[in-house]
Amino acid sequence: MTYGTGNPPVAISAARAIRSRQELRSALEGPRREGVSIGLVPTMGYLHEGHLSLLRAARVECDLVVMSLFVNPAQFGAGEDLNRYPRDEERDLRLAAEAGVDLVYAPPVEAVYPEGFATRVEVGGGLTDVLDGDPARRGPAHFRGVTTVVAKLFNTVGPDVAYFGQKDAQQVAVIRRMVRDLDIPVRIEVLPTVREPDGLAMSSRNAYLDPRERERATALSRALRAAEETARAEGLAAGLAAAGAELRAAGVEPEYLEARDAENLNPVAESNGRPVLIAVAARVGGARLIDNVLIKP
Ligand code: AMP
Repeated sequence: MTYGTGNPPVAISAARAIRSRQELRSALEGPRREGVSIGLVPTMGYLHEGHLSLLRAARVECDLVVMSLFVNPAQFGAGEDLNRYPRDEERDLRLAAEAGVDLVYAPPVEAVYPEGFATRVEVGGGLTDVLDGDPARRGPAHFRGVTTVVAKLFNTVGPDVAYFGQKDAQQVAVIRRMVRDLDIPVRIEVLPTVREPDGLAMSSRNAYLDPRERERATALSRALRAAEETARAEGLAAGLAAAGAELRAAGVEPEYLEARDAENLNPVAESNGRPVLIAVAARVGGARLIDNVLIKP
């Protein structure tokens, strides 16, 4: 097997989905013995430029790039969009190959959660019971689903580096905590949110938006830009107020719109020299959208 950034690039069966953990492990065994660096990009597929930015970074930095493609039922709540989550594996495999991915791991649900599966990996406390994990909203079960599957992926792939998007800022904080707490030997790389030209954060769920909703959805990024500008000039409270006004003007009711310490997600009134995350979630038509901005001191 050939892999890596070699020039000229040598294609391996990049566009073939590997379904079993055993097959993936044996594909990685030789390279690992040779000491190549392995990058992992976990995704739920329906790839867009946000995913591709992670794949490209992995391609540049690692000898061998693994992309996982798995719509993880454990992170969807009852009544959420698991059954209609957009899927197009053929296109994903093509785009992954074009981005230079070496191996795509796309296991069936039964392979990840076989009969008798009973273990959960849970990051407790203030990282998972606020914002997206607020019990009155999506609930901490969402992150339990995320950390359980990401821990399994880390165990299966054994990556040196794993790539995540700042778009899911709370997910990043939770995964960093899990990696530290469980001594998982992986470096977490976080890349900036990739946006459409009009500011909308790219998301597989944008596919749910009809043209009018798509237009309204731009209010989220507009609100965050207003929040950042106003917060820098007049403080966080004014920033949040400015963001709220943008959302209201577009008829978008936020599920949450909050300023939090970027690392521990504690509520903050002012930045006090630490990075602050302003995060928003809102339903626009049939899509539940999230976005955030990181305000560095
Ligand atoms: P998903 O397929 O939505 O689970 O996302 C897989 C990875 O891509 C996660 O680490 C996300 O944070 C990241 N991601 C999703 N959307 C974007 C975006 N617009 N910009 C950067 N990364 C993203």
